[in-house]
Amino acid sequence: MNFFDSHCHLDKLDLTPFAGEFDRFMSAAWDAGVRRMLCVAIHPDRWQAMASLVEPYLKPAADRPQVWLSYGVHPTDDPELVLDADALIAAVRGSPWQAAVAAIGETGLDYFRSGVAEAWQHERFRQHIAAARILHKPLIIHTRAAAEDTMAVLEAEGARDCGGVMHCFVESWDIARRALDLGFYLSFSGILTYKNAADLREVAQKAPADRLLIETDAPYLAPAPHRGKPNTPIFVTHTAQMLADLRGMSLAAVGELTTQNACRWLSLPSQP
Ligand SMILES: [Zn+2]
Repeated sequence: MNFFDSHCHLDKLDLTPFAGEFDRFMSAAWDAGVRRMLCVAIHPDRWQAMASLVEPYLKPAADRPQVWLSYGVHPTDDPELVLDADALIAAVRGSPWQAAVAAIGETGLDYFRSGVAEAWQHERFRQHIAAARILHKPLIIHTRAAAEDTMAVLEAEGARDCGGVMHCFVESWDIARRALDLGFYLSFSGILTYKNAADLREVAQKAPADRLLIETDAPYLAPAPHRGKPNTPIFVTHTAQMLADLRGMSLAAVGELTTQNACRWLSLPSQP
C-alpha cells in the first residue's frame, strides 16, 4: 500500500499509543502504508519548530515516511498577528529546509465564530495568496461558513497562478466546481466517512479522478470508526477506503491515484 496524507499537524499528535515517541509513531505509519505526509505549520512560531521536529523525515529513505512542510497562519489563529507576503516569502527562502516547504497555508476564511467577515482575516488571506504566487507554491485553503467569500477572494487575487487545494472539503458541488475551474484540488478528510455526510460523498463520487486528494487533518477529525478519538495520519486508510467504495476502486488503487495527484499538485517526484 502507498498513501499520501496531504494534510496533518504532526506537532499536535497524541503520542500516548506510541509510548510517547514520535519515531515509533512514524514507523507505525510506515507499516500502515503511509509513505508521505504534508505537515502543516500554522503559526510563525511553529514554522522552524515543526521543521526541526520532522527533520529526520525530510529526506527520502527506504524504511520510513517522507514529510514535506507547509508554512502559513491559520485563519482563526492570532487575530493580532499581521502577516505580510514579504515576511512569509523570506521565511520560506531563508529556511534551511526550504526544499521541503512544498505549499503555503493553511489560509482562507472562517466565519464560524464571528458570523461575519473580518477585515484582518481577508487581508491575511490576500497576503498568503500573493506569497504563494511569487514562490510558485500551491495554497492550502481552509474555509468554514465562508465558501462564497473564499472563492471570490481566490478568483480576484489570481490564485489560479499558483493553484492549491480546498483542504478538508465539505462544501457543495457548486463550490467544488469553482475550485476545479481555478485548477484546484479537492481534499477529503475523515468527514467523508461520517453518517451525515451523504451530500459530500456525492461530491467525492463525481469529482474528476485527477483532482482527488485524501488527508487526515490529524489530530482532528478522526474518521469512523475512530470518530471522536485523537486522529493520526495512520487513519488516512479509512478515508481512502470510503473513496474506494464510492468510486468502485480498490483501496490500493485509491492510494496510488491520490499519491500521484499529491505529487503532481506539490511538484514532487512521484517515485521517492
Ligand atoms: Zn489543518
